[in-house]
Amino acid sequence: MVQRTLSIVKPDAVKKNAVGAVIRCFEDAGLRVAALKMLHLSAEEAGRFYVVHRERPFYKDLTSFMSEGPIAVLVLEGPDAIARVRKIMGATNPRDAAPGTIRALYAENIERNAVHGSDSEGSAGYEIPFFFPEIEIH
Ligand code: UDP
Ligand code: MG
Repeated sequence: MVQRTLSIVKPDAVKKNAVGAVIRCFEDAGLRVAALKMLHLSAEEAGRFYVVHRERPFYKDLTSFMSEGPIAVLVLEGPDAIARVRKIMGATNPRDAAPGTIRALYAENIERNAVHGSDSEGSAGYEIPFFFPEIEIH
């Protein structure tokens, strides 16, 4: 099934000049960039994006990290895009990420882990319109 998923190049990876490298990984796997832009979230906006994690012990640090600098946000489209993007990203903790995955290559630690990808159709349905009106998705 053709799906759309939301990905973010997080502030750590943007600082490392890895925006292009991250997008390259997705494009080389056959995923299509359907929308793309950069922005700098406030801590409040980062908190709303990650609202599902609001009770987690890492929530405050996460919202501070995600608002420390600019991010690149993109919509990726393709067959089975949600699961495929998760596989290309690698595990949340880069110590567990398979060799060659984005997180194995670019993540610093479990928090500063370079990239985000929607984990389900439900979360993609929240995350894509959080950043992009339909008219900006191609
Ligand atoms: N995170 C963290 N500490 C943890 C788990 C997660 O700082 O113990 C951060 C990390 O940046 C992660 C984000 O919170 O990417 C969202 O966590 P989630 O479990 O949804 O991981 P993901 O779906 O990004 O792999
Ligand atoms: Mg997640």
